[in-house]
Amino acid sequence: MKIKSINPSNYEIIGEVEVSSENEIKTAVKNAQKAKQDWKELGVKGRAIELRKLYKVFESNQEEYAKLGSQEMGMPITDSRYDLEDGLRYFKWYLDKANKYLSPEKTINTKEYSNTVYYEPYGVAAVIVPWNFPFSNVIWQVIPNLIAGNVVVFKNSEESILCGKKIDEYFTQAKLPKGVFQQVFGDGKVGDTLVNQNINLISFTGSTKTGQRLYQLAAKKMIKAVLELGGSAPGIVFEDADIDIVIESIDFNRYGNCGQICDGLKRLIVHESVADNLLSKLKKVVESKTVGDAADESTQIGPLVAKRQLALLEVQVKDALNKGAKIVAGGKRPPDLKGAFYQPTILTNIKSNMRVWQEEVFGPVLPVMTFTSTHQAIELANDTDYGLGGYIFTQDKKRAQTAARDLETGMVSINGSSYLNPESPFGGYKCSGIGREHGKYGLHDLTQIKVVAS
Ligand code: NAD
Repeated sequence: MKIKSINPSNYEIIGEVEVSSENEIKTAVKNAQKAKQDWKELGVKGRAIELRKLYKVFESNQEEYAKLGSQEMGMPITDSRYDLEDGLRYFKWYLDKANKYLSPEKTINTKEYSNTVYYEPYGVAAVIVPWNFPFSNVIWQVIPNLIAGNVVVFKNSEESILCGKKIDEYFTQAKLPKGVFQQVFGDGKVGDTLVNQNINLISFTGSTKTGQRLYQLAAKKMIKAVLELGGSAPGIVFEDADIDIVIESIDFNRYGNCGQICDGLKRLIVHESVADNLLSKLKKVVESKTVGDAADESTQIGPLVAKRQLALLEVQVKDALNKGAKIVAGGKRPPDLKGAFYQPTILTNIKSNMRVWQEEVFGPVLPVMTFTSTHQAIELANDTDYGLGGYIFTQDKKRAQTAARDLETGMVSINGSSYLNPESPFGGYKCSGIGREHGKYGLHDLTQIKVVAS
């Protein structure tokens, strides 16, 4: 059986990939089990030497991969190049810094005795990722696992399956030891077969629905699951916010990547006194966006990843309109484009029982509510099952810190500052996940912690 890859800019088939059989998946896990001891014994420095070869292969093929990712999932080519650059920034950090955070640490060191903590790999990690950042999704999950000493059986999304094939080619060129990185190809069924094998860790990025399923399975197997899941980040705009900064942040965090960013700003909560001004400025910006084929250098907003994602977005918007929402901008497909396109949209008159408020909206649609007191703003912000990102806009430092404290989210940005750095933890509260990626936090989440007394 084969999976076809479809370009969402024009619905043309751009390739196909054979789905891995059950036997192939079982063999991959067995090979990984055989490879794990040698990879562990190489140590962090030895593994970094191997992985530098891979870094070079990725670095020298950036344009090729950026074009493929853009064609396959619809990310505008200029953003796709950034996906590569930024993914490599994270990769480099692991090469340079992982040794520092994975080295043994003394917790007690007296004349009589010492306690030393070691960070040991789990063994075989089943690593499963989605499609929304065709390069960074792979780097963020695969590289920390490998440097921490886990061997990886990897499954990329069925929506970016040609990118998966390309990643395989790059690994082959880098000539890592046999069994250290292997890939299986297919949809959720292949992922399900993979996680039901003899694996030692589940390392997953994707939807909350799949994450919850994997968490149950991990409990049954009594293995660890690190889960990076969906989000519906609030953005609170206080009355003293710098409106230009707010608009710049919304432009990037809501409409960037056609709204398909896990920690993107998905619900706007604005102080009543500045709402009209902000919305009229935002409307101008949103309506000036160039929507079009992802391959076009001038495109700012490409298509959604697939027809089914467009259909879901339309259902979510229709539900809001039926319940009384009003369209400030957008609200439909651009009439002259053939692919999975949707106009960047702003919706007001939002109520908390609407799907655009309750669910994750993975598309360029921004629901807006207003508030009059800080207490009300925080209540609205936390009125969600998710807890990944949060955005606060105010010039009052004390108010910003208090609001940051009160948001039930793993990450908070104040006035557009970025928390997206390899040194800092990435992950969520509530249904947005379990565990963290990146920094010492992420590395420690991928390792067993052992204390040896002597
Ligand atoms: P998804 O859960 O449908 O799929 C993700 C991956 O899981 C795919 O590779 C898929 O084939 C696989 N999969 C599906 N069912 C499976 C099963 N039963 N067993 C094993 N594997 C299975 O998610 P999606 O819709 O492709 O991705 C979008 C979601 O990912 C959004 O919710 C987004 O917020 C989230 N996301 C989260 C982060 C983060 O770091 N928190 C980053 C990017 C995307």
